[in-house]
Amino acid sequence: MGSRGRRQFNGWKRFGRAAMWLIALQLLLQLLAMSLLQAETAEAAEGSPGDERDYASLSQGMRVKRDKPYRSPERPTVYLTFDDGPSKLTPAVLDILKEEGVKATFFVLGKQVEAYPEVAGRIVSEGHAIGNHSYNHVYQELYSDFGAYWEQLQKTERAISEATGAVTPLVRAPGGTHGNFDPFYHYYLEQAGYTVHDWNIDSGDARQAGVPARDIVQTVAAGPFRHEMVVLLHDSAGHAATVKALPDIIRLFKERGYEFAPLDEEVKPVQQAAGKLKWKRSVSLEQHLDYAAASRQYAAARQKTMLPPERKVALQAAVREPLLPSASRLAPLRYAGPLTVRLDSRDIRIAPDRYFLLDGSLQVPLREWVEAMGGTVDWQPQTRIAAAEYGHRRMEYDLGLNELRVYRPGPGGVSEATKIPLPSMELRDGIIYAPLRLTLEQLGGRIADYRYDAARDGWEVEASAVNLGPAWESLRALMPLSALDGIG
Ligand SMILES: [Zn+2]
Repeated sequence: MGSRGRRQFNGWKRFGRAAMWLIALQLLLQLLAMSLLQAETAEAAEGSPGDERDYASLSQGMRVKRDKPYRSPERPTVYLTFDDGPSKLTPAVLDILKEEGVKATFFVLGKQVEAYPEVAGRIVSEGHAIGNHSYNHVYQELYSDFGAYWEQLQKTERAISEATGAVTPLVRAPGGTHGNFDPFYHYYLEQAGYTVHDWNIDSGDARQAGVPARDIVQTVAAGPFRHEMVVLLHDSAGHAATVKALPDIIRLFKERGYEFAPLDEEVKPVQQAAGKLKWKRSVSLEQHLDYAAASRQYAAARQKTMLPPERKVALQAAVREPLLPSASRLAPLRYAGPLTVRLDSRDIRIAPDRYFLLDGSLQVPLREWVEAMGGTVDWQPQTRIAAAEYGHRRMEYDLGLNELRVYRPGPGGVSEATKIPLPSMELRDGIIYAPLRLTLEQLGGRIADYRYDAARDGWEVEASAVNLGPAWESLRALMPLSALDGIG
C-alpha cells in the first residue's frame, strides 16, 4: 500500500469513527426522546400532578371549577325544561311547542328513550335540546357512588345517540344537585365536558300526584322573574296537568316579553347551593385518579363525535326564531311598582307610570334617564331629533327616520355615525321613550342583571357605567372645530 493509499485508509477510518459516534449519539437521543415520550404517556394515563391537589380541595368540600365563558342573552329568556320523559304524553307537549313556535329542553331517562325512541327522535328533529337525566332515576343507585352514576350516564348517552343521533353535553341530576351532588360529582362531569343544569323556578307539577293545571300555572306566575329563567316541568306519565298548563305558561312568558330558547353549552347553568349531602359516600385517592382519568379520556373521545362548530352555529340560528314577527306588536306592559336601576353605587328610580316593557325591552323616558345618569338631552322639534350627550359619546335619536345614530371619538376626531334602526322608539304624550339597555350600552355602560320583583310588581336592573372616558365637553375643547361640524 502506497502512502497515498494509507492516507486514504486513515481518512476512511477517521470518518468511520466519527460516523460511529454520530450514530451512537443519534441512538442515545432517540432513546432519550422515547423515554421522555413514555413518561409523558404514562403521566397522561395516570393523571396530571394537579389531580392530587384537586383531590385535597374536593375532599374538603370545595368546588374545583374550570374557567368557561358563557353567553348572556340580550333579551329576557326562558328555558322550559321537561324531565323524566319521553312518555306517551311527550307528543302532545311537542305539538303545543310547535304551535307556539317555542323551543325547549328535554332531560330524558335512558330507559324511557329505549321505550319511546321515535319520540326522542322527534324531540331532536324539531329543534329542541335533549339532555341526560340518568337511566332509571333511582336515587339510591345514582347517589351511592360516582361509579354507578357514571354508568347510568353512559348507558343513557348510548340510548340517546342510537335513537336520535345526537350527543348531548347537557345533564340534569335526578332530584336536582342540592343534597345529591358533592364537589366530586361536579368535578368529574365538568372534566368530562358535561354541563349540569338545575332550575330557578319549579312549576311544582311533581310536588305530589294530581296537582291541577291552574296550580301549576299559578306557581310559575308567582315568579320571581329573572333575566334568564329555567323552568322545571315534567312530561312523564301522570303529568297530563302539565300538558294542560303549558299553553298558559307559554302565554305568561310571552306577555312579559320573554324569548324562548333551548339550553346549550353556552348558557350559564343554574346550579343550586350544595346543601348537606343526603348520602354517605366517599372517594379514595385511587378512585379519584381513575375517575379523573376516565372523565378526561371520555371528553377527548367525545370531542371527535361532536358536531363541527359551523354546523352547531347554523343549528342554533335555526332554532332561535324571534318571539314575534316584526309586524305584530304587543301592547306595552305596565307595572304597579317603580323601575329601579342600580347604576354603579347609586339608585335611579323611574316612576311606574313612566316606564313599560315593549317587545321584550324596558322603555324609559330618554331625557329623564340620560339626565339621571348625568348627561344632557337636546330636543330639536323641527328636525324631530333628540341629541343625548354623556361622557365622550353623542347619540342622535331620530324620530323622523326611527333610527339611532351613535358618534364616538376616534383617532382623527369624531367617528362616523353607527346607525341602529329603532322601530320601537316613539313619542308618547310629549315624552320620547327609548330602550333602556340600548341607550345605556351605546353610552358606554353595561347591564349586569334584570330582576322582576313580583311582590312589588316592578323591575330592578343592575347596571354599570364605569367604562366612560373624558366628558364630551372636554373632548370638544380638544378637537378641531371642523371635526365637529358634521354633527352639529
Ligand atoms: Zn327527574
